[in-house]
Amino acid sequence: MRNAESLDSYSAFILPRSAMIPHDYHTHTNFSCDGKATMAEMCRSAIERGVPEIGFTEHYDLHPGDEYRDWFRLEPWAAEIEKCRAVFGGQLTVRAGIEIGEPHTFHAEAQAMLARYPFDYVLGSLHWVGSATIFDKSFFHRPAKEAFQLYFEELERMTRVDGFDVLSHFDVPVRTAFDVYGRYDPKDHEDCIRPVLRNCIERGIALDINTRALDIAANVLTPGLDILRWYVEMGGERITLGSDAHRPQRIGNGIPRAIEVAKEAGLKYVMQFERRQAKTLPL
Ligand SMILES: [Zn+2]
Ligand SMILES: [Zn+2]
Repeated sequence: MRNAESLDSYSAFILPRSAMIPHDYHTHTNFSCDGKATMAEMCRSAIERGVPEIGFTEHYDLHPGDEYRDWFRLEPWAAEIEKCRAVFGGQLTVRAGIEIGEPHTFHAEAQAMLARYPFDYVLGSLHWVGSATIFDKSFFHRPAKEAFQLYFEELERMTRVDGFDVLSHFDVPVRTAFDVYGRYDPKDHEDCIRPVLRNCIERGIALDINTRALDIAANVLTPGLDILRWYVEMGGERITLGSDAHRPQRIGNGIPRAIEVAKEAGLKYVMQFERRQAKTLPL
């Protein structure tokens, strides 16, 4: 018993609780148009970085303006998932996710894809507002208030529709908008943000705390502390953590920071998904 106790305190010493990463639930491999590594390389990196559970969420985009529309190939990807589960199973939990662009607009096609494989969870993402992509600076050739309002109003429509488990990168336009407007403060858009949070809470949609924009000029979590505080205040509890890594070196990147902010906002756990069933894992 004594030995077990001292072993526990030793583990706590070498790996502070705050540094523990429960999962990385937003990652891309070369099965995504913009992924840079194989699934096995991403798995090895997760193990090296002490990430016990990884979710692969390739892009499934159907917007007619997207040059990689319908690029995702399910069968070879699913075979790779099974292979990685067999090879890395003892060290790493491999989840089968998918990132669906505009799941409300392409609802029937998205549901048809989901029916073809036992996905563990589904990310819903808004990358396009009407015929405009929010990754192109031209979308921000209008006042900031108007640009974010257009995005959040579309996000409100998206979160009214069932069919996905986790809302990706809540305020992702900031990645591009920052280069146009500079400073970004969610409080300027609170009236448009709260209706989205309300929909997520009503439908049990979790929020992906996405760390990708920590590495760029914007240097923010999407969503960050203000939005998470509103979410908690309104009754929200469900989050996942995602690096949005497209290469092995970024697996788990920024997730300790995301955990700190989540705790500061009053969140108590992350969601773990298996075949679309959610469980909680204390933070
Ligand atoms: Zn995305
Ligand atoms: Zn992504």
